[in-house]
Parts: sequence; C-alpha cells; structure tokens
Amino acid sequence: MIYRVAIPSPLRRLFDYLPATDAPEPSITPGCRVLVPFGRRSVVGVVVAVETQSNQPANRLRPIEEILDTEPPVPATLFQLYLWAARYYQHPVGDALTQMLPALLRQPGPLPTGHETAWQLTRHGKGLPETALTRAPKQQKLLNLLQNGSITNAQIRAVGISRAIIRALADKNLIEEVSVEPTIKTVASGTGQCDVPFTLSDEQQLAVDSIVLDGFQPSLLQGETGSGKTEIYLQAIARVLARGRQALVLVPEINLTPQTVARFTDRFGDQIAVMHSGLTDHERWRAWNRMRTGQAPILIGTRSAVFTPLANPGIIIVDEEHDNAYKQQEGFRYSARDFALMRGQTEKIPVILGSATPSLESLLNAKQGRYQHLRLLHRPAGVKKPQWQLVDIRGLELSAGFSSQAIDAMGSALEGGQQVLVFLNRRGFAPQMLCHQCGWVAECRHCSTRMTTHMQYRQLLCHHCEARQPVPDRCPQCQSEHLVFVGQGTERSESILNNLFPNTPIIRVDRDTTRRKDAMRRVIADVDRGQPCILVGTQMLAKGHHFPNVTLAVLLDIDGGLFSADFRATERMGQLITQVAGRAGRGDQPGVVMLQSHLCDHPLVSQLCSEGYDAFANTLLRERKMVDLPPFVPMALIRAESEHADRASGFLAHARRRAESIFPPSATMRYLGPLPAPMERRQGRYRYQLTVTARSRPALQQLLSELCPSLEAEPSARQVRWSVDVDPADLT
Ligand code: ADP
Ligand code: ZN
Ligand code: ZN
Repeated sequence: MIYRVAIPSPLRRLFDYLPATDAPEPSITPGCRVLVPFGRRSVVGVVVAVETQSNQPANRLRPIEEILDTEPPVPATLFQLYLWAARYYQHPVGDALTQMLPALLRQPGPLPTGHETAWQLTRHGKGLPETALTRAPKQQKLLNLLQNGSITNAQIRAVGISRAIIRALADKNLIEEVSVEPTIKTVASGTGQCDVPFTLSDEQQLAVDSIVLDGFQPSLLQGETGSGKTEIYLQAIARVLARGRQALVLVPEINLTPQTVARFTDRFGDQIAVMHSGLTDHERWRAWNRMRTGQAPILIGTRSAVFTPLANPGIIIVDEEHDNAYKQQEGFRYSARDFALMRGQTEKIPVILGSATPSLESLLNAKQGRYQHLRLLHRPAGVKKPQWQLVDIRGLELSAGFSSQAIDAMGSALEGGQQVLVFLNRRGFAPQMLCHQCGWVAECRHCSTRMTTHMQYRQLLCHHCEARQPVPDRCPQCQSEHLVFVGQGTERSESILNNLFPNTPIIRVDRDTTRRKDAMRRVIADVDRGQPCILVGTQMLAKGHHFPNVTLAVLLDIDGGLFSADFRATERMGQLITQVAGRAGRGDQPGVVMLQSHLCDHPLVSQLCSEGYDAFANTLLRERKMVDLPPFVPMALIRAESEHADRASGFLAHARRRAESIFPPSATMRYLGPLPAPMERRQGRYRYQLTVTARSRPALQQLLSELCPSLEAEPSARQVRWSVDVDPADLT
C-alpha cells in the first residue's frame, strides 16, 4: 500500500508514504490524518488517496509515523469537494486543506473530545435544604439550577451567574467540576424567549413554498433591504429543522451585522452555532464539531464556515451573496458562494442566494434558468421610494470633497432633527484622470474604454488593448489645466464635517471602528437613539444595517467606482449606491439620496437613479457580453509582484509564452498582458497581471492545471511573488 498524503506546503503535489511499520494495518481511508516525516520534521498530513504503486523509487519512501484518525473527520463527499476546490482554484492541496479544516486538527493527536466543563452538586450539596442559602440569592439560584443534574460552565454563565459565585459554592464543597459531552439540544432555549414567526405576505409565502427541500435547487432571492428576505430564511429553516436536518447560513461579516444574528437567535434560541474569525481555535472547533455530529441544527458563519461538515445537511443560505467578502483575496482564493453551490449540488440540498443587489453572475444564472428567481417586489409597508438628486460638480468649488448643495442639505436635515449618512469611496482606488471643468475622461481610441493613469510612467494605459499614451498637461476638450484624479479629496472630509457642524456627533464606521467586537453594536445603539448625527463611512455603511432615522444619504466621489480599470468596479459601485440608498428614509420620512459626480450625464449613472438596479445590471450584462467578460466567459488572473518591475513583468511574459505553447491564443483562449495592475505599486512592489479568458471552463481548467505546476518549477518563480486567481473578484 502507498498513501498519497497532502502536506501543508506551498508545493502543488502530494507525497507518497509507506504504511506505518508498527501499526497492525488499520484501514486508512482518504480524509484520515496521519503524522509523517517531512524533511527533518514530523508534520500532520491528510491522506488523499490510497494506491498500490508510487512513482517514487521504493527505497526513497518513508513510512507513516502515526495514524491519527481511524475514521475520516469529514464525510467522504465533502472531503472530495475540498479536493475539487483545491484543484479548481489551483491552490496547493495541502495548504488548501489547512485552511478548510479547523486549526486544532493540525495538532498531532486524536480529534479533540470537545468535552465541556460542567458543575454538579456534591453529596453534601444534594443534602442541603432548598432554602439554605437564601441570604446569598445568586448562590441559591445556582444550587436550584443544579438540582436536575449537571450544567455546563457556558450555560451557567449564560444565565448571568459569575465565576465568583461558582467558586464560592465550590469552596463550600457544595458543587464539583465534571467533564461532560456537549449536550444535544433539539428544542429552543425553553424559556419561552423565542419570538413567533410572522404571518408571511403573499410574496413571501410564495417564495417559501417555492423552495423545494428535497434535492439540489439553487434560488436567487432578490428583494431590497427590509423586504422580508430574512423572514423567508427563518421560515425555510424552520421547515428544514422539522425534518431533522441542519441549516448552514453564510453572512459576509458577523461583527458588522449583529442585528442579523440577533434575528436568528431570537427565533431559534441556543440551537445556533456561530463561526467567525474572532473565535479561538477551541471555540471554532467546538462549533465545527457540533455541526459535524449533528448536535447543533443551525450554523451562522462567515466565509470559511462553508467548509463545515453537516451530519444531516438540509439547506445552505448565502445572505448578501453579491458581497466581495465571500471571495478570499489571498492564499487560497476561493469563493464561499460558489463553493456553497457546488456543495448544494453534491449534497443534494437547496441553496438560497439572497440579495437586494445580486451579482451579475447570479443574475445571469437566474435569467438563463439555472437558478429559480424569487422576487420580493413590494416595498415594506410605509416606506417610500427615496428621491435621487444628482449634483453635477464639474467646475464647482468643493470643500474637501463636499459641494455647497450637499452641505446645505445636510444642514437642513440636521436642523430638522434628522440623521445624515455620508459615504466615502476609498477602496479600489484606481487612478482615473478627468477634467474638473468639463468632465472629460481619457478614453482609448481603439476600444472606447476609459484609460488608467500610471503616474510612474506618466502614461495612460488601456486595460483592454494595451494601448498607451502620455498623460496630457491640459484637457484636450476644454484646454483647462484643472485635471483631477478621482478618488482624491475625501481624506479630509471628516475634519471638514467637524468644522461645519461642531455640535453634531460624527460617528465613524470603517475598518478601524468595526474591527473591535462590540463596536458596531455600539454604533447602532447610538444611531438608534434617533438624535441628529452624521454617520461617516466607507463600504461598511452598505452592509445590512437598518438606520430608519437617516433621511439623507450623501455619496461623494462615485466617479472612481464607476470608471475604474477593474471591470467589476462599476457593478460594485452600483450595488453600493443602491445599498446605501436603501438605508435612508425607512421610517415615516422619505429619504433623499444625493450623488456627487463629474459624470452626471453618463447613461449608467442616470439609469441607476431613474430605473434602479435591475435596469442598470441589465445594461452591464449587455456590455460584458459584448466585450467577452465574465460572467459570459470564465477568467483567471495570474499576478506577479517584485521590487524590480522587470522581474514581475518578465515572469508573466514567460508565463504567457508557456501558456501559449499549451493552448495557442485563439477565440477559445485569450491572453492579455502582462500589464501593470491598476494599482501598479504597493508596499514597494511592482505589480503585474496576466489575464486569461476562455470560451469554456474545462478548457481554462485544463490550461491552468498544466501551466501552474510547470511555472512552480521555474527558477524565475522564486524571484517574484506570484499567484493564480480563478474567477477573480478584485482586479486592482
Ligand atoms: P430583509 O432581510 O429583506 O432586509 P427582513 O426579513 O429583515 O428583511 O424584514 C424587515 C422587517 O420587516 C423586519 O423588522 C421584520 O421583522 C419585518 N417583517 C418581515 N416579514 C414580515 C411579515 N410577514 N410581517 C410583518 N413583519 C415582517
Ligand atoms: Zn484600448
Ligand atoms: Zn475639460
């Protein structure tokens, strides 16, 4: 027997081992962990296949040191899907498995027991009369709780009994510590705290009834914020639980959306396991294992929760499916949404993708009939459509990015006792040059797409056809020298707000303020008090909050998003604008959405404002089809970075030649690059890209499966940082 083992290493290959010398040959199946010698170390690997022959000479093979699992921790179908994902995203399988499995499994030992610390009454405690401690009510409360048997630490803490109280009883020798298997809970908390399901609207009822629970069925559930999607998830899950199955719910970010998790716990009580990046390794393991063994019926988690095994899979829900957070942007560059769909297909369960602003990928799948398209068209009761105002800022004097119209509107909203939201676009800064006087944007003569500015070379570059031209000194249309780079000018917006509205609280919502665990909860509590305030933030503001007292949303500098070299930036900006607009005016006041732009006449901007996201998305889909971009063709991006520009571009030029020798350029396989990335330098490194688009996914896979291992073996690969990104989400 030869065991082919995946080992945490950057190499795209497996390593062969002989059976353990001393072990009496237990049958190892794929998915079992083993301890193996690797170089001079011992490492934990995962058996991927069992073969009878190796390509290595027999005398070079070493035996397995120790078999860690007698049974694979992950069901075979899911494990095969892990392997598929590593292949599909062209990531070294050992490293990919490391990211898909909980960290505790990397330790050389059997599966953690997951036992919990619990407390029970001692003999002495049992004999105590029921009112013995009435003068210490908390201690008495705990004693009473323990009358019916042991209770875990976590449960004791959950009812508000502190560690000190536990200690006090233990010191009196009334209670003692025991280790217990985590209890299986099949009913909600039992305290009667769970809220009752709403009576569904006709639209909602239709959607719930359309979700078939037997077999794979993908659905796109589209409805704006507040239209009742979450209620549909909750009721679909209730049906799944009633059949004794489990639900997996993915959300983009848990800290940002405490309200969503609260909706689930309010309905289902403590049946829910939660998984996100803030957990300790033990906590993560516990949640993972509760799902794996069927002890918890519902898991809510972020991206990597999609890999959690389910004992009785019943449904997968991907909330805010358009969100970029589902795509991991470094290392193992998987998409949790796409993995969820593959998983639904393999495990034969329904998958619901929910969004107010679906991705073009999912919209196309729905249009072409691969997904069921469920729509919630009615706005929630009492909420009026927001009113859009476009502010043409060409030639206007701006104060740190604000037009005087915006400042006036904010002033009167605040005076009227209302709240204001200011959206700054900082991410995806791709330098586009435009004329502040007349709104001229540099376009490529050959393909009429916008050109990107690369100041490094003082060049404008077309990311479609590689055409270059020098950066002009004045506007070719109106001769003005006032050429600006979009994306600039928002850094100071916060301080200017402080000067303009010194008596108004300014609440920031960005990476820094939301990283801390309870920060977002506090922000929401502040805003919910309803006092006039200004919420200032980036992308974070668009993520699932309800701010009913906000009546004015001001969006600065949308041009950078609408006109970037990243072809997905337009889609993303449309989603953001629509999401931000959806936050305003949800109470009895109608909302106003004010967009500042140099490009108010642009058809996409006016279409988004007048006709809404669907029409906008349809136009984008037509454009993508015309120029052969995803979702109509699959794409992969090969990136390289180096402190020496020529090394990065040279490596990719080589990669292109290599690729062309495998698959000559044709209508079936197209290559573009190497080109400097839209953000051409980061942290002192030059960044280059080679784009590959193919007519078919199998062709692209075939090319990459041959290309990547061969590039890995190149000496020049060691002089650059390079990576492959299949279905890239962010091209900057
Ligand atoms: P979404 O997930 O689309 O943002 P939600 O499901 O959160 O929408 O619903 C928005 C609000 O409407 C919530 O406060 C929810 O409690 C309420 N709601 C949803 N469905 C119903 C219903 N059928 N009847 C009454 N209220 C509802
Ligand atoms: Zn061009
Ligand atoms: Zn001009």
